[in-house]
Amino acid sequence: KATTAQELVEQARSQGVVMADLKFVDVPGLWQHFHVPIDELSSKSLAEGFGFDGSSIRGFQAIHESDMLLVPDLSTAFIDPFYQHPTLSLICEVRDPVSGQAYDRDPRHIARRAEAYLKATGIADVSYWGPEAEFFILDSARFDQNQHSGYYFIDSAEGFWNSGRDGTPNPGYRPRYKEGYFPVPPTDTVADVRAEIALTLEHVGVGVEVHHHEVATAGQAEVDLRFDSLTRMGDRVMLLKYVAKNVARKYGKTVTFMPKPIYGDNGSGMHTHQSLWKEGNNLFCDPSGYAGLSELARYYIGGLLHHGRALAAFCSPTTNSYKRLVPGFEAPVNLVYSKRNRSAAVRIPMYSQEPKAKRIEYRPPDPSANPYLAFAAMLMAGLDGIENRIDPGEPLDKDIYSLTPAELLALRSLPASLDEALEALRDDHQFLLKGGVFTRDFIDLWIDYKKQREVLAVGTRPHPWEFVLYFDV
Ligand code: GLU
Ligand code: MG
Ligand code: MG
Repeated sequence: KATTAQELVEQARSQGVVMADLKFVDVPGLWQHFHVPIDELSSKSLAEGFGFDGSSIRGFQAIHESDMLLVPDLSTAFIDPFYQHPTLSLICEVRDPVSGQAYDRDPRHIARRAEAYLKATGIADVSYWGPEAEFFILDSARFDQNQHSGYYFIDSAEGFWNSGRDGTPNPGYRPRYKEGYFPVPPTDTVADVRAEIALTLEHVGVGVEVHHHEVATAGQAEVDLRFDSLTRMGDRVMLLKYVAKNVARKYGKTVTFMPKPIYGDNGSGMHTHQSLWKEGNNLFCDPSGYAGLSELARYYIGGLLHHGRALAAFCSPTTNSYKRLVPGFEAPVNLVYSKRNRSAAVRIPMYSQEPKAKRIEYRPPDPSANPYLAFAAMLMAGLDGIENRIDPGEPLDKDIYSLTPAELLALRSLPASLDEALEALRDDHQFLLKGGVFTRDFIDLWIDYKKQREVLAVGTRPHPWEFVLYFDV
């Protein structure tokens, strides 16, 4: 592990590295990058940053003020496994060359500000994050996004069992819908791909706790990352997506993190485990409290649930997210909490009673989220709950899907669409502005970007199912 710029460059050279790959995240949450030859790296250039055109990056600068700088975070260095020439990867922050300040639309910087705010409140020193990323590993040949894949129209398992839809033979042992959790191979067709994803992650320094097939039919995967602090976990989720997509490609497969690619089957979530720590103690633990939770943890839950509708704009940030958040697929719909219950927005896992393992799991997020923004927003909501002693009320320890309509009506629920979530954020974002963590400019940018480029773009296009319903009106 190198500590200074000079050490880093020397170490890289001695390992035969010839290129450096500078990576950063755009506003919606995709990594962008460019290469510089290793000789361009010096203590000076690493401190001053590398120039690029910010006007071509989604959500960044207007064209008349497009010059931006990338400043590598040396602690993120890893040898990138996906280039032919030995390449050192560095995750970077974006700086405005005119002010010399961190660029306040840089999602990674928002994550760092959230961590600084947590410390400044004195409530805790550090927050820990453990996301469970779910995604689909699909056969490239069977899934062509440009052809509006046949998956789209599959309404029952029939489409899966009777092949011929796309001319390929039926290889057999396909899990029925919702039965992918979790028979051994040959039913689990992607175990080797998942294993290589997990091993590659370990190789670049990302701890994996478990990987397995998920509930949906052939190819739904879950990879759970070992907990880490907020910004570092943002980096790790970016790495997970990068590694999963690139490993899958080697196998002639493709990966999608869109939350609901297949109608009628489970979608992909990114349940996020979280806890607050001070001086080495887990502030969420109190063995005498409900489900072993402290009062502080209950207020944190109160904050998540109270701001849950606005949070959805960052945690479930695509039009497709709301096709996942419906009853019957293990995804949450209602803003309630419970131990064990998978239909609640907040679940308190009961697998372990060890104090250090006590945490809460927020289930609405999905992997289409920009992890830096989603984690920062959840932390701010939880802290607001603690600061204002927001009581989450009574837990709901029964299956929400089985409640009567009257019982259901009494519960608050998540937004039903991205548009609703953005309106909720418009009405409720003061908790995000505290400590300058999110700026008003960023909230406005997010709402505007998502409305114009996504809500409107999807909403104004004739939907294939509209032809089924309406062609013969
Ligand atoms: N795939 C489900 C979801 O959309 C979750 C399954 C699970 O409980 O792990 O949230
Ligand atoms: Mg899991
Ligand atoms: Mg899961």
